[in-house]
Amino acid sequence: MKSRVVSSLLISLPRLSYSQTFAPTIFRRSTTSAFVSQISTCKRISITDKPMSLLSSPSGTVAKPQPPKRHCTSTTHDDGYGDGDGDSEQSRTGNSGLFVACPVCHSEGQVISRRRRTKKQKRAYQNAKNNGLPLPPPPPIQMEPCKECSGSGIRPIGSVKIDQLPRVADDVQIGIIGGGIGGLALALACQHRNIPYTVYERDSCFDERSQGYGLTMQQGGKALQALGLAMTGDERLCGKGIHSKRHIVHKPDGTQVGEWGMKVWGREKKEEAKRQNAHIARQELRRIIYNQIEERDNENCIAWGHKLLEYTKGDDGGVKMTFLKSNVPAVKQVVKEATMLVGADGIRSAVRQNKIGEHVSPFRYLGCIVILGIAPSPSSSSLTNDNETVFQTADGTTRLYAMPFARKGQETANALQYLKNGSENSNIGQGETMWQLSFPLTENDAKKLSAEGAASLKQEALQRCGNWHSPIPELLGSTPEELVSGYPVYDRGILDDDVFRRGCVKEGVYNGSEVTLIGDAAHPMSPFKGQGANQALLDAVLLARSLYQVYRVRGDNENIKRDPEKLLEDILEEFESSMLKRSKGKVKASAEAAKFLHTEAAIAEGNVTRGAAVAALKDK
Ligand SMILES: Cc1cc2nc3c(=O)[nH]c(=O)nc-3n(C[C@H](O)[C@H](O)[C@H](O)COP(=O)(O)OP(=O)(O)OC[C@H]3O[C@@H](n4cnc5c(N)ncnc54)[C@H](O)[C@@H]3O)c2cc1C
Repeated sequence: MKSRVVSSLLISLPRLSYSQTFAPTIFRRSTTSAFVSQISTCKRISITDKPMSLLSSPSGTVAKPQPPKRHCTSTTHDDGYGDGDGDSEQSRTGNSGLFVACPVCHSEGQVISRRRRTKKQKRAYQNAKNNGLPLPPPPPIQMEPCKECSGSGIRPIGSVKIDQLPRVADDVQIGIIGGGIGGLALALACQHRNIPYTVYERDSCFDERSQGYGLTMQQGGKALQALGLAMTGDERLCGKGIHSKRHIVHKPDGTQVGEWGMKVWGREKKEEAKRQNAHIARQELRRIIYNQIEERDNENCIAWGHKLLEYTKGDDGGVKMTFLKSNVPAVKQVVKEATMLVGADGIRSAVRQNKIGEHVSPFRYLGCIVILGIAPSPSSSSLTNDNETVFQTADGTTRLYAMPFARKGQETANALQYLKNGSENSNIGQGETMWQLSFPLTENDAKKLSAEGAASLKQEALQRCGNWHSPIPELLGSTPEELVSGYPVYDRGILDDDVFRRGCVKEGVYNGSEVTLIGDAAHPMSPFKGQGANQALLDAVLLARSLYQVYRVRGDNENIKRDPEKLLEDILEEFESSMLKRSKGKVKASAEAAKFLHTEAAIAEGNVTRGAAVAALKDK
């Protein structure tokens, strides 16, 4: 009954506008009207749009939601005709979902720990007090993980009281350009916080491009946990994450020069439970994140077939974006608006191009090419048949790195594809392995080889490594050409905080103070440290937390009086500074790895990672 009353209130109340929600007076209303204004802003979390089971229980907590239906179809932004109103009312109404911002730490994942003086400080304080001396300053503020959400910043909705649901200014619309790893992670993190957004992706549907390659999740595991995804045990990344336990380094004849990992150290059982690393196909990880978004019925928040051409200042503030729309019978341009814009559009980012310009930090060719392939795992070799071993082999110039891509019985669409093609490979169904071959090449030759296509790339791989130790020849030979690709390797110099924030200062070009970048758009790096996607995920979670601080409607006791535009700028500046500080070292180390992995250092004797082996050589 109570829930019905709440529900009808929600339907009938007008939403608060952005300026209204920030107006301090709103927090000084009587208790009843304050409650009404609070729950009115909860509407977007769609209490009204959901069955009564999601509404408050008599105890005032939100009942545990039923498992939502999964949607398997690709989402489209509209019916394919007309402008498709991506930022329509519908796209702005998220829904309850399974997680919401933690009401204790307000999605930060950490809280201020109680300031405690050490014994020495206490004595100094007492001494100063007794003797009438100036009192020593209080101990510095320290943060500790929020116990309520175990530091993730989100809580299952089932245990959150209705008046603690995230309340976000209503006339906000985040434009996210790019539905890759970073863009989708940001979308999901915004959804948890009830922040309205639309993702604009140039591909016309989720599966437009093939599986790509495999990723190793390291620090990004923390970000995935903050997105509500399990990173340990059998549930690791919805059961798709593979935890490697052995790393081996060889010379081309098979001589082992290094070995490490839990299996090697005999700590397999003890440590597995808490280790958060995982190997996963990029497209699988993307799908897992995308499915979480879909579970929340948010299909209208992803605008497929929208390629950003440029952005300019919006007529009423914010940003105006021009897209080339490709999923309509006649390709055409459309214009959309957003309160703020995030470029998550990868290494060739159009947002970066607009904001910073190519001339400020152009592409840097890192002197090598990578050729990638995905093949059924050879069952005859202990390096590939346990789905738990990563191995690399190098001759001082050319390097091949191989890692589990899919477990036995969990093959991606690729295995089916081989079967469809009538292949008689007996390894089909034994799991899949991704290999990555790299070697130095001039930029022109690398571009040429890449442009020649899969047959030439595979031929090059066989020519270089066809007589290396087992199972390399079999692995390369059995890779279907459809699953071979190759690219010259580039990065960009990391930008100073100030240049990143200000953008280009060319006359007539809008620098976009409400525009920021994440992932490869912000700090592209070589793939040799396996860090790009990890950093993109960390960026996405950090940005969503930052935006929540900007757009969150605060309660009576947290009344703040700040200009929202200035607040956005300040918080973006803080976010960018923190992101660039974290990723700077990764860009540098990834560029260095692009060099040393193609030297004798890659096969230095030692049961340590290759980075550590190189450091040890330098110390000698
Ligand atoms: C071979 C290889 C191996 C790698 N291995 C690892 C690894 O082990 N671990 C790791 O952490 N990282 C790894 N990386 C790096 C990682 O893949 C990237 O850093 C990561 O995907 C970046 O995510 P992103 O969201 O920033 O960009 P992307 O995932 O590239 O997504 C960008 C999206 O934007 C879209 N887009 C582009 N332009 C526009 C436009 N104008 N309008 C609209 N949409 C647009 C694209 O279609 C795409 O969907 C590897 C990379 C390579 C090449």
